[in-house]
Amino acid sequence: MWVSASPSRGAEQKLHGLGGYPAAMRCVICRHDDTKVVDSRTAEEGAAIRRRRECPECGHRFTTYERIDEVALMVAKTKGGREPFDQAKVVSGILAAAKGRPIDVEAATLLAESIEEELRLTGASEVPSTRIGLAVLERLREIDDVAYLRFASVYKNFDGAEDFQREVALLDKSPIS
Ligand SMILES: [Zn+2]
Repeated sequence: MWVSASPSRGAEQKLHGLGGYPAAMRCVICRHDDTKVVDSRTAEEGAAIRRRRECPECGHRFTTYERIDEVALMVAKTKGGREPFDQAKVVSGILAAAKGRPIDVEAATLLAESIEEELRLTGASEVPSTRIGLAVLERLREIDDVAYLRFASVYKNFDGAEDFQREVALLDKSPIS
């Protein structure tokens, strides 16, 4: 998830190339329309400000990144078309696979955030949806076998058996260190 920079910038913001006030940000879980910033720090070697936010309504914590002049991270779908990366979608996919397993909203959100950060650090403005599915699989495999297998079967349905098998073959060849 990312927030566009404010159009009005003070000297300090110009120095850092980033927008001023943190924009009001909807809670990704309950959609409460404002959340509190509990921590801010620079990220991606100063190219972004990472803000830790907390929803006063449901207590959910999540992270946003503010960057200047950045296009949205786009996701290329297997069957054609593109859409902006949607952290909430990744979170709900993880939660669906993790039903009844010891992976809560907070953990799923952290996974989705680490995936977004990993994808952004590649510098690519567009990533294939299979890359996101694979990133989720890699992480679930480390923390919960059942959720991993469930996600793998959902992922298969989403992206076509051929792609899935190819990705799993790649995954098997690259053991997680
Ligand atoms: Zn909330």
